[in-house]
Amino acid sequence: MSSRIRRLLASLWWLGCGVSSRDVPPPAPDAYDEPRARMVREQLVGRGIRDQRVLEVMGRVPRHELVPERDRNDAYEDGPLPIGEGQTISQPYIVAAMSEAAALSGNERVLEIGTGSGYQAAVLSALAREVYTIELEPVLAARAKRDLERLGCTNVHTRTGDGYRGWPEAAPFDAILVTAAPDHVPPALIDQLALGGRLVIPVGGSGDQQLWLFTKTERGVERRALLPVRFVPLRGESQK
Ligand code: SAH
Repeated sequence: MSSRIRRLLASLWWLGCGVSSRDVPPPAPDAYDEPRARMVREQLVGRGIRDQRVLEVMGRVPRHELVPERDRNDAYEDGPLPIGEGQTISQPYIVAAMSEAAALSGNERVLEIGTGSGYQAAVLSALAREVYTIELEPVLAARAKRDLERLGCTNVHTRTGDGYRGWPEAAPFDAILVTAAPDHVPPALIDQLALGGRLVIPVGGSGDQQLWLFTKTERGVERRALLPVRFVPLRGESQK
């Protein structure tokens, strides 16, 4: 089969992005199936990711389509990769850990701060009902918007700008994921959580960051430390 037809089939399969894989034919097999399956097995299952939906979705989202062309062969390696403008696509395990912490069952509205390559947004789009994602860097925002459209992620809404104040018009959110690290939790993000909502966010300076899970409850906001991490800094207003 020609690669053009294969790409077309792959993009048709992606229609809706959040559509269950049972409703549409599976994509044609390609050279990335094996490394992607190995990534799920070794990096995710092997390190304790248990959420079956997260494992299933990361087993089919084409991460190699969201990294720079020259890095495609490394797309399923165990680490972050540069995506231009000094930014990175997160390590697969971190995407999985954050998605699992968000505890999504399919009906949620989710906000992501730091679209970057669009990979985490594509994963979320298959795990939740609506995804809103904000990217500060215009070049990356434009590229991710185009790539997410190409993959058929019609439930992902993109915006260019500083995510420090969230996306008030679309709030409240059942989950908010922040994929760049501020040195404090932006208050607007707590405000924009629904009751029961989860905020997954790295906090700290370059050498000393922790991933936190904040949950909004009737008794107040509960927090739990998840794991030490290393993200690029959240720029813009949070640094002022
Ligand atoms: N989630 C991304 C990884 C993002 S890296 C992925 O799956 O590829 C962090 C991103 O956050 C970078 O693209 C950076 O430009 C962006 N960023 C930094 N500060 C920001 C801010 N204040 N608002 C929105 N995006 C921001």
